[in-house]
This record gives sequence, structure tokens and C-alpha cells, in this order.
Amino acid sequence: MGISRTIPALLTALIFLIFMLALPGSEARCALHLVNITGFHYWSGPDHTRLVLDMQREAAYKAFSLQRPLRLVIDLPNAKINIQKTNIPIGDRIVKGVRFGVFAPGTIRMVVDLKIQIQRRIFVLKPFQGRPHRLVVDLSSPELARKEAAQRKNFKIKERHRAKVVVIDPGHGGEDPGAIGRRGTREKDIVLSIARQIKKMLDGKRGFRVFLTRDGDYYIPLRKRYELAQELGSHVFISLHCDAHRNRNARGASVYTLSTGGATDEAARLLAHKENASDQVAGIFQSSDTLNTILLDLVQTHNLNESLRFGEMVLGRLRRVNSLKFSEPRQARFMVLKAPEIPSILVELGYLSNRRDERSLRNKRFRTRLSGALVQAIEKYFSDRSPPSSSPPKPPSHRYHVVREGETLWRIAHLYNVELTELRKLNHLSVREGIRIGQRIRIPVKR
Ligand SMILES: [Zn+2]
Repeated sequence: MGISRTIPALLTALIFLIFMLALPGSEARCALHLVNITGFHYWSGPDHTRLVLDMQREAAYKAFSLQRPLRLVIDLPNAKINIQKTNIPIGDRIVKGVRFGVFAPGTIRMVVDLKIQIQRRIFVLKPFQGRPHRLVVDLSSPELARKEAAQRKNFKIKERHRAKVVVIDPGHGGEDPGAIGRRGTREKDIVLSIARQIKKMLDGKRGFRVFLTRDGDYYIPLRKRYELAQELGSHVFISLHCDAHRNRNARGASVYTLSTGGATDEAARLLAHKENASDQVAGIFQSSDTLNTILLDLVQTHNLNESLRFGEMVLGRLRRVNSLKFSEPRQARFMVLKAPEIPSILVELGYLSNRRDERSLRNKRFRTRLSGALVQAIEKYFSDRSPPSSSPPKPPSHRYHVVREGETLWRIAHLYNVELTELRKLNHLSVREGIRIGQRIRIPVKR
């Protein structure tokens, strides 16, 4: 009896002893398992704020809201923090500031002091394009978004018929820096600076109103960019970008328009793919491809022709400032150019991967000249056009089809239900002449 009692007691003591001895080691092992928070960033848009925590690996989190005062609390168990400032004033339209602290051993608490009621979306992003694991906290205000949308609608009703509305879209922003040059020049900064200059120059002229899709360092989803232009009743849309290529000799400016079929060439297709990946870099998840047809309606064909005409004018002016990579607009499926009723182009201003182009783009005077060239092209585009009030635009007599792999002229004729001979005549193609991938074939429009 006595013995059977002592043995469990001894065992307990032994286990306790082992546990005590093992403690420093296990604590050290535990500390190794803590997820290290290595950075904090934030970006403020007009109706949203994005907070991002850089983490060494994926971490668990728990979020909840508190009222009076309004706060969002995010607890990260099994985490430690390694950032310089743990109390960060923000002071934008949504967030007062962010504080970090150790809530319990091994638990980091992040408190977001809020100005207004928000909708939150919290998610984890895996490493992508050199960025580490991230915890993304998107805070949006439906009320602010509604106000902004109402202002755009109001503008469209009041101003659109009085002025030419130009929407400039500085590519990338926030979490997505775009291309980065050898000297650390970021595409998102260069294009914003040029967009602001264009706005300043054009707003000073009569008959123009310019809007920027973003006027700060934050990200906007690609679809939202052209939707903003649609809400404003934009007459023309220009998305600004800088290129980068492994071949560091590649340089010069180029202009792109939307292709609803294939791309004009492989390089254009790859470029569109790269620019379209912007949403992914910024952690936007939505299926974005809404245009999936090669049979276009009249509005869109007319619009694509207008985009090409505008693109040609832009190239004509840009060549006075920078060398051109391609002397004609190229076409590919750029997500951001998909507003079917607005002539839209994407301008690659130069290559940040090229030493000379990067030096130029960093230079304020060069950027002013580039902006001036774009302003001249915009003015020319509208002055060359007959005023829509006096004569409505004639519906075009033809539309375009971009030849894709495996297609023959016969197949295209069949697809659009036109005579092969008619197609040959319209495109000045002899019987023997073949067609090549990326070639633009005129298709007669039947009335
Ligand atoms: Zn870009």
C-alpha cells in the first residue's frame, strides 16, 4: 500500500524535475518557432487603407472589433516583432494610427485606432516577386466609396458635355511597385509624377478636365481603373507605365491598344501578361477576363480604331522626346484597356532596365518634356476630330480581326460570314499571299 503510493509520487517528482531541466531549452526552441514580424507598411487611398505586416512565414491571427473608441484588434499568437517603431501615427481618412505590443508571452497584439466604421478584409499573401509572407489588412469605408462615386456621377452629368474628360491612369502603386531600375527607380513613382504633370498642364487649358485614377501611393485593381473612367464619362483613357527587360539594351517608348483576339506579337503578349499580373502582386483576387469574344460590335470596333488613331498620335509626339521601341501601336489583351466605349491606350514611357532610359526618367526636365508630348497628342487627337454635335461619328465600314495561330483566311471569312474574294480585295491580298499571326485583317461590316 505504502509503496504503491510512493511510486507515483516519486514519478511525479521525477517528471517535474525533467520538465524543469528541459525548460530553458524548450523555451529556446519555442522562441525559434515564433513567427518573426519583420516589417509594417501602409497605403492610404481615398476610400480605403491597406496595412501590411511582413512575416518570415505564415502566421495565425485572430481579429475583432471594439467600439468606443473604434478599434480593430488583431492578435498574432506565436509571434514576435522586430520593427523599429511600434506606435505609428497614420492620420488618413480611415485610420488614426497603429500600435503594436506584447499582449501575452508569445502573442503580439496589433491595435488599429479607427476614425470611422469600416469593412475589413484580412488575408495572407505568399511570397511573390521578392516580397515575403504578408498579412494584409484591407480597411474600406463603404460610405466614403459611395460619396466618391456620387461625386463622379455628378461630374459626369454636369461637366462632361462642356469639357473633354481625360483620365490618366498611373500604373501600379502601393504594394505593387511595378518595374524597378538598377538605381532603385520605381515605376509607380515615375508614372505618378508624369500623370500629375499632365494634369497640371491640361487643366490649365480651356476645354479639358483631367482625372487621375490614383493620386498617391496606393493600389487600385485594374478593373476599377477603367470603371472610374466610365463613371466619369471619360473621352479618353491613358494608362502610364515603364518597361523592364532582361536585355538591358532594350530602350525607348511604345504604345499599346487592346486586342480582343490574339496579340500582334509575342513580346506584346508577354507584356500584357506582366501588366495584368499587377492585381496578383497586390493581392486582388477576382476573375478579370470579361472580354472573350472576337466578334465585336460596332461601338467597340469604332473604339478600337479610335484607340489606334490616338496611339499613333501619341507615338508621333513621343518620338520627338524619346527614341521609340516600336513605331506603330501594338495590340494585346491588356485588362486595364477594356472599357468598350472609351478610346484607351497604354503607354510604356521607357525602360527602367536600361541605363540611359532610367537616367532620363529620373530627370525632372525629361519628365516635363514627356508630359508635354502627351498633352500635345491629346490636344491633337481632339482637334482632329469633327465635333460630335455637328455630325455623329459614321459607323465604320470595317472591323479588324487579329490573326491567331492556325487560322487561314478562308477560316476567318467563314467566321464572319463574308466572301473570301471580298476579304482579299479589302485587304489587298493576292490569291497566293498567305497571312501571318498578329496581322490585322479588315472585315467588312454589313449594314
Ligand atoms: Zn507597368
